Amino acid sequence: MACNDEVVMVLETKRNLTIWKHFDLCLMTDNHEMARCKGSVKFMKATVNSTLKKHTERHCPVTKAKNEKGEGSGTGSSNV
Ligand SMILES: [Zn+2]
Repeated sequence: MACNDEVVMVLETKRNLTIWKHFDLCLMTDNHEMARCKGSVKFMKATVNSTLKKHTERHCPVTKAKNEKGEGSGTGSSNV
């Protein structure tokens, strides 16, 4: 859908900082805003904070890599 959009500029945001420190608020070519994950450079809708939060907590490969390193020893305990 919105795959061909490009970032026009990165905007300042005063939104929820615990979430937005992981994201850039980007203004796209067709004038809508997208959140770009600073870690994985994935674009998401900037309107839904819960989606962004979920990404940083669960889905972001950067977070995952960190968590795996943090675990350190033992076999992975994956209860999926
Ligand atoms: Zn990410």
